[in-house]
Amino acid sequence: MKKITILGGAESGIGTAILAQKQGWDVFVSEMGSIKEKYRQMLAEHNIAHEENGHTEERILDADVVVKSPGIPDTAPLVQQLIQKGTPILSELEFARPYSRGKTICITGSNGKTTTTSLIYYIMQQWGVDVGLAGNIGRSYALQVAQGDHDWYVLEISSFQLDNMYDFRADVAVLMNITPDHLDRYDFQMQHYTDSKMRIIQNQQAGDAFIYWRQDEHIEEELEKRHHGCAPATTPSSRPARSGQPTLLPFEDDDFERLGLSFSQMGQHNKRNALAVYTATKFVGVDESLIRRCLTEFPGVEHRLERVEEKGGVLFINDSKATNVDACYVALQAMTRPTILIVGGRDKGNDYSVLSDIVREKCAGLVYLGADNRKLHEAFDPLGLPVSDTHSMQDCVEACFSMARPGQCVLLSPCCASFDLFKNMEDRGEQFKSLVRAHASL
Ligand code: ADP
Repeated sequence: MKKITILGGAESGIGTAILAQKQGWDVFVSEMGSIKEKYRQMLAEHNIAHEENGHTEERILDADVVVKSPGIPDTAPLVQQLIQKGTPILSELEFARPYSRGKTICITGSNGKTTTTSLIYYIMQQWGVDVGLAGNIGRSYALQVAQGDHDWYVLEISSFQLDNMYDFRADVAVLMNITPDHLDRYDFQMQHYTDSKMRIIQNQQAGDAFIYWRQDEHIEEELEKRHHGCAPATTPSSRPARSGQPTLLPFEDDDFERLGLSFSQMGQHNKRNALAVYTATKFVGVDESLIRRCLTEFPGVEHRLERVEEKGGVLFINDSKATNVDACYVALQAMTRPTILIVGGRDKGNDYSVLSDIVREKCAGLVYLGADNRKLHEAFDPLGLPVSDTHSMQDCVEACFSMARPGQCVLLSPCCASFDLFKNMEDRGEQFKSLVRAHASL
């Protein structure tokens, strides 16, 4: 019996374990921290061997295949040992794909993945096909494959997942954009991160589609390189040579007006998301009038330019999911009122200088929110706007209420990860919303 070890005992790891067991693998799950009760129960129900609060090296190194949670970097000593030993290290999606009959619509990009994925899923559901939502979002893909496979999957795929995908082929690949993010996991080399994102098209062939934003700085250049066979080598796939090329379906900003689309969500970036969705769903055969109706009815996704409340003439907007500089940039672009911007958190190697002009144009003040705000002071204080320095959401919301004037808006769009002060970006957004709602008016 072939042995599989799964590193990471959360949503994707447990799903992989259940699928692997069903497929006759000898399964072992190893979790560095503690396993949540819900997942512990699932492991017990399926009688799957596991450990928590540490890794037993010997047993892990003995595996024929390892499936690694995308959160574990390649630099982790155990992963390094596996790499040296030549053990295949796969992502959940790579492992589970051969066991599924479903077609896949795969969405990646630095920003816009969740919005685009959720909206495609929403439309596919309205269309009435048997569809699952998975990847970085919702329930584990592997678990869905194990417990009731679907005809279609809409998959949100991060660069960390792509890094461990080799044979996986997307029937429809959507690449929203490539802007600097997670550079700390890519040796601070933009090209490494770009290569990771471009893996979304590896193995695509005739009959598939590649949908992308034509105005992105990198994508067309990277396509060109690949066309001429001079792209940097990615890990070799064991698939046979590809037969033919996918259909390229680029879209650009003007298409939104040209096609006469309307979308329920604000901002230029959301028009791009709508265009990607329109192109993808049209390609798979959804009726055009249904797509147009869904675009106008889509309720949006929590923590993405989410309107919280208007208090004393000040509109509060929760964009906690803006965890990189580009996301904050597009959020500011969408603002139609003078804005108090809340920025800060765990810095991922950010270059804030690209925000200077838009902050000057759109902002009436800045509230820094992080364990360490020094880099923010250096970047934004010279702009001469009122600033406030805070280290908890409570103090941050207080500072916003005292800084904002009627007619303005307060935008939480922090450019940074949340882990310095919060459990995650959802926790950050929820604390913001409940403190704003509980606060007395101005
Ligand atoms: P992701 O899943 O890639 O993080 P989301 O849809 O969750 O993307 O959006 C995250 C943030 O990125 C949002 O808060 C918004 O400010 C910004 N954003 C959304 N769509 C785009 C886009 N197409 N281009 C640039 N930024 C975007």
